[in-house]
Amino acid sequence: MGESTKGRKRLGVMGGTFDPIHHGHLVAASEVASAFQLDEVIFVPTGQPWQKTGREVSSAEDRYLMTVIATAENPQFSVSRIDIDRQGLTYTVDTLRELRAQHPDADLFFITGADALAQILSWRDVEELFSLAHFIGCTRPGHTLTDAGLPVGGVSLVEVPALAISSTDCRLRVAKGAPVWYLVPDGVVRYIDKRALYRDAG
Ligand code: ATP
Ligand code: MG
Repeated sequence: MGESTKGRKRLGVMGGTFDPIHHGHLVAASEVASAFQLDEVIFVPTGQPWQKTGREVSSAEDRYLMTVIATAENPQFSVSRIDIDRQGLTYTVDTLRELRAQHPDADLFFITGADALAQILSWRDVEELFSLAHFIGCTRPGHTLTDAGLPVGGVSLVEVPALAISSTDCRLRVAKGAPVWYLVPDGVVRYIDKRALYRDAG
C-alpha cells in the first residue's frame, strides 16, 4: 500500500455475520467508502463464524440473501459468497487471501467494528493480515483507537453515526414483537417476516 497505488482499484471488504444486516453496517460501508475514496465495497457474509459458536446462527443462505437485498440498489456495493461457500469456520486471513487472489490489482480495505478489530488483531497471522489489507475500525464518535486496545499504525479509525444499531438488538426486537423498521432496510424487514426468522431468537 502507500505511494505506488495510483490507478489501482480500491476495494472495501466488509465481513460480518449479517444476522440480520442493518443500517449500521450500511452506514459504516458508505462512510468508509467516502472517506477512503473506495471504488466498491464487497460485503462478505461469514460461513460459520468462530466468534459466535455459542448461539444458533441463521442459515448462510438467509444471511446471504438479506445482504443482497440490503445492498442491491447501491451500484458501489456487492456481495461475495466466498466465506459461505468455504467449508468450516471463517477466518479473516482466509477471506483476504482469497479476495487478494481474485483481485490482484486492487488495494483491499478491511472494514470492521473497532471491537471486532481488536479481536481479529489479537489472533495469529497479524503480520500477514497487515500485508493483505489496510484495516479500518468503525467506532462511535468521540472514541479513540486506544479505547479499543488497538495498535496504532496499520489501522485507521472512522466515526460512524449509526453505531448504536446491532443485529443482536434487531433479533431480540423481532422475538418480542417490537418493530425493526428503519433499523434494517425495508426489504430485510419483509424477508425476516416471510422466513419467520428470529421469532424465538436470542
Ligand atoms: P451481533 O449483534 O450479532 O454481534 P453485529 O450488529 O455486531 O451483530 P456483525 O454481523 O457481527 O453485526 O457485524 C459485522 C461487522 O460490522 C463487524 O465488524 C461489526 O463490528 C460491524 N458493525 C456492527 N454493527 C455496526 C454498526 N452499528 N456500525 C458500524 N459497524 C458495525
Ligand atoms: Mg457484533
